[in-house]
Amino acid sequence: MVSLELTDEHRLLEQSVREWAGREVAPRIHDLDREHRFDRNILPQMASLGLLGICIPVEHGGAGMDYIALGLASEELEYVDTSLRVILSVHVGLNSLTLLAWGTEDQKRRYLVPQAQGTKLASYGLTEPAAGSDARGIQTTAVQHGDRWVLNGEKMWISLGDVADQFLVFAWSDQEKKKQRDPSGISAFIVERAFKGFSSGTLTEKWGILAGNTGFFKMDDVEVPDENMVGHPGEGFKIAMFALDQGRFTVAAGATGLIRACRDASGTYARDRKAFGVEIAQHQLVKEMIAQMESDYQAARLLWLRAGWLKNIGQRNTRETGLAKWFATVASERAAGDCVQIHGANGYSDEYPAGRFYRNCKGAVIYEGTREIHKLMQADYVLGYRVDRPSRCDLPPYTGSRP
Ligand SMILES: Cc1cc2nc3c(=O)[nH]c(=O)nc-3n(C[C@H](O)[C@H](O)[C@H](O)COP(=O)(O)OP(=O)(O)OC[C@H]3O[C@@H](n4cnc5c(N)ncnc54)[C@H](O)[C@@H]3O)c2cc1C
Repeated sequence: MVSLELTDEHRLLEQSVREWAGREVAPRIHDLDREHRFDRNILPQMASLGLLGICIPVEHGGAGMDYIALGLASEELEYVDTSLRVILSVHVGLNSLTLLAWGTEDQKRRYLVPQAQGTKLASYGLTEPAAGSDARGIQTTAVQHGDRWVLNGEKMWISLGDVADQFLVFAWSDQEKKKQRDPSGISAFIVERAFKGFSSGTLTEKWGILAGNTGFFKMDDVEVPDENMVGHPGEGFKIAMFALDQGRFTVAAGATGLIRACRDASGTYARDRKAFGVEIAQHQLVKEMIAQMESDYQAARLLWLRAGWLKNIGQRNTRETGLAKWFATVASERAAGDCVQIHGANGYSDEYPAGRFYRNCKGAVIYEGTREIHKLMQADYVLGYRVDRPSRCDLPPYTGSRP
């Protein structure tokens, strides 16, 4: 049965994340953003709220909530700042949920449990200087030496790249297949920052999500034990795509929160600012922008809720999650642009949050599948050119009290 009613547990979560982010982060976000400062002190607070393992089962150290809860937390976090939601996207969405579905029991014990408890921070390394949308274009290699793999390469544009403790990394483990660009030659590995030969840095020229860390890391002859390979040799590409199904869900819900933030800030300003003798909210063209934000918010929310519901019942949702991500991120760009517009010149100043929303929204139209890649995917589903094949490992359905 489909129900759009949130449970009491959902509402409580929504309320507590809203109150925490409003109290602890909102008053400081302007300064953190302007100073390009990632505040590590936020992490233990997110951990104590259970957010860093929100939908990871209790037996693996998590809070044991469902996937709708992950979406609600993403929406509330991005309402205050995109940088907060990005933490959830890479740590929970891209990394932890992948270990939950594809990891061995040993990997879950050594890596997933501390991640879910929030004592270790995790991220995801697919993109490289010369390969983003074209993931087969990565150059990182993994060569087997006995019971170890030696990794060489560079990952770029990695969220939390200069601060995370451990990474899900993708590399060519079959060099013949690399030459043919056959993705069944790519494997996935858990790489620790502490491994010899690992180094990282922060991208300092980035102009959005400034309170978040985005970095690069290099691997020079990094030795990774065989037991850190996730899945079987050659399953890396499938694992990378699986991870995106979960990451994109958090991006969709987060962008929905950003649309709501734009709507609320626009509404407040439009009731306050006067032009031609009336509140600017009285002008129909201003109302049109606010109405668009409202319809985009409601539609984006329904789309991510549907994707979350499919995750809860254990049904494949690559198509629905992709649509939710594409729609919400493009709509958030529209909302942020109009939010600046409604604020007039004040929107062009960092005295108001509109400019930060405008800078922050753009990243999500690029990462986890660009607008163009998602557009092509959706057309290919409709045209029958794209069909999702069964996967060896699926996201576990939610088995708690109410899916
Ligand atoms: C803030 C931020 C955080 C990020 N975090 C991470 C992270 O944590 N981990 C990670 O692995 N990566 C991360 N990324 C990287 C991100 O996933 C890539 O930037 C994204 O996949 C796009 O790749 P690209 O930048 O190389 O652009 P390109 O792939 O070079 O694309 C450039 C342009 O060409 C278009 N294009 C490319 N191919 C096609 C096609 N076939 N048809 C039509 N148009 C096409 C694209 O849509 C785009 O407009 C992050 C990026 C940003 C900006």
